[in-house]
Amino acid sequence: MSQKDNVIKHGSENPFESMKKRFDVAAKIIGLDESDYNVLIAPQKAVIVNIPVTMDDGKVKVFEGFRVVHNANLGPSKGGIRYSMDVHLDEVKALAAWMTWKCAVVGIPYGGGKGGIKCDPRSMSKGELERMTRAYTDLMVDVFGPDKDIPAPDMGTGQQEMAWIMDEYSKLVGKSSPAVVTGKPLVLGGSLGRVEATGRGVMVSTRSALSKLGISPVGATCAVQGFGNVGSISAKLLAQQGMKVLAISDVTGGYYNPEGLNIDEAIAYRDNNKGTLEGYKGGSRITNEDLLELDVQVLVPAAMEDQITAENADKIKAKLIVEGANGPTSSSADDILHKKGILVVPDILANAGGVTVSYFEWVQNRLGYFWTEERVYRRADRVMKQAFEGVYSASIEHNCSMRIGAYCVAIKKVAEVEKLRGKFGL
Ligand code: GLU
Repeated sequence: MSQKDNVIKHGSENPFESMKKRFDVAAKIIGLDESDYNVLIAPQKAVIVNIPVTMDDGKVKVFEGFRVVHNANLGPSKGGIRYSMDVHLDEVKALAAWMTWKCAVVGIPYGGGKGGIKCDPRSMSKGELERMTRAYTDLMVDVFGPDKDIPAPDMGTGQQEMAWIMDEYSKLVGKSSPAVVTGKPLVLGGSLGRVEATGRGVMVSTRSALSKLGISPVGATCAVQGFGNVGSISAKLLAQQGMKVLAISDVTGGYYNPEGLNIDEAIAYRDNNKGTLEGYKGGSRITNEDLLELDVQVLVPAAMEDQITAENADKIKAKLIVEGANGPTSSSADDILHKKGILVVPDILANAGGVTVSYFEWVQNRLGYFWTEERVYRRADRVMKQAFEGVYSASIEHNCSMRIGAYCVAIKKVAEVEKLRGKFGL
């Protein structure tokens, strides 16, 4: 099997259109008026920058960077920065809108934003990444701010990039400004529990959903697509709940063991193997596509957008899908999954544990007082459980999927604040 066959591929649906289709359905259900519709669908701000970076060979390369503020009604815009060759404006616009809905669903005082740089971080040296990250921060200095727009890690970025952003921004404004970015290293004002937060939220959501389905987590079978921060930690925590993780995957393909994989062992293998599962012997080789269609009770797509589409939705056997990634299901698959009776815990709920603990990090930075891990977990778990119940009730009330229920909860809240604050531009 060549790397080309295995690589996790994007589907063909435009992510912003996918977001808009769900928005349209929910807007109709809640009776959103036309003016509110027009205001809430459009991003408030989209900034495109060209970032000149001196590469190690002395040549200057120019990278395209984006930051989109979708909506800042509930508070400063919040959302990660993605480094990937797939980054483009419509993707960042969709991801920014999802952040708006996500923050509203879990009830934290943020709007939604997202950023990205079109680059291949794996092929760049640490020095090149640092120069690019600092130059991007310089160009975005008027966009970012602890009370304006607060970045965080996303695909291809992590604690080191957040440390560079914090440092560069602090230098530019002439004072230490840790609350400008979350997902920082602990020694630099990061929060305990932030690294595990998204995976932990996926686990908590899975437990809530399994209990609605009357399935015990102990012995329940599961497959996890993606073995980055979200996928690997979700898999580990689900296994700790007694679930049997039969398959995992990353860019090198899938690994399947009908007896259940040893996730701690797989994580240790990846960490000693340049970050990938290439050559992992704990399970037999399958493709990323095969993984999605396995006969398991729970499927956790935690890789990237557009993995479950109209083409493969009908072949999915899981009873429950918990979306660790942003946008892993394209809108063309929604109805197929709903008709098959598969319960889908949507991304804007299932992966909201990350931004919830980002909010806790920001609060701690502003207080200058740090919480114990136990406090972070307790509060984050509570937020996730309450949000799950709120969305589940909305789906029953409106007789719709949990995804549309989540959009209804979020849009209602943002529209209400819109009415109270008055419209932008008036
Ligand atoms: N990138 C993460 C997400 O998509 C975290 C965002 C944040 O913490 O601001 O939810």
